[in-house]
Amino acid sequence: MKILFESIVWAEIQTIIQWSKTKKNEASFLGTGQIVSGNIVIDKIFIPKQEVSTASADLSEEGLAELFESLPKEDRNRILFWGHTHPGSTTPSGTDIATLKELKANNNIYIMAIFAAGATTYAKVFVRTQGLELEFTPEIDCIYSTRITNLIKENITEKKYAHTVGTGFYQNGNFNHQYEKGYMPYSTEYTPTVNQSYIKPSAHANAKVINPFENYTNKRKAKATRG
Ligand SMILES: [Zn+2]
Repeated sequence: MKILFESIVWAEIQTIIQWSKTKKNEASFLGTGQIVSGNIVIDKIFIPKQEVSTASADLSEEGLAELFESLPKEDRNRILFWGHTHPGSTTPSGTDIATLKELKANNNIYIMAIFAAGATTYAKVFVRTQGLELEFTPEIDCIYSTRITNLIKENITEKKYAHTVGTGFYQNGNFNHQYEKGYMPYSTEYTPTVNQSYIKPSAHANAKVINPFENYTNKRKAKATRG
């Protein structure tokens, strides 16, 4: 199980780390996440009101209550991450260990991490499942934006050409296998123009020579007529 930070969250954490380094103060933040393919993806972080010093970032009960109230409903039950920065090393303090103990008592899954500029991130994952309690040091990584990945899946489709397995076409005397797979042999940005010299009649007597752009242009025309 890895802890994966959304790239945007990762950048936001770097911002807090830089602030912490510059001001020589700690800062705490909470994060929402979910289990995706066996890993925990942290997708948002929030900064509750807090009083900080070089060696502490105390989350007040009022600060936490205010944050929870301001959270969208869907995020309220997804908080499972507590992160904080140290101005120097990432070694947990006695207070950090005590806080982690408290979090473990109140949650079935929790991640704690300590960040500092130029230091290896300290992280612990705690999981309680079917009476078993597990605590380990996870691998940490960051991933590309899930939101954008979903938007791409939702809104971007690749143009596909009519399936023509077994036919293909001959181009400059060579059988075009790319076309056999049913895909246009050019990128979707390219607007095709039919060039007869491009598709030469093959030297193979029985070869069926077809215009690979024919269906495509017909479809475009049909669409234009409908629209
Ligand atoms: Zn600490």
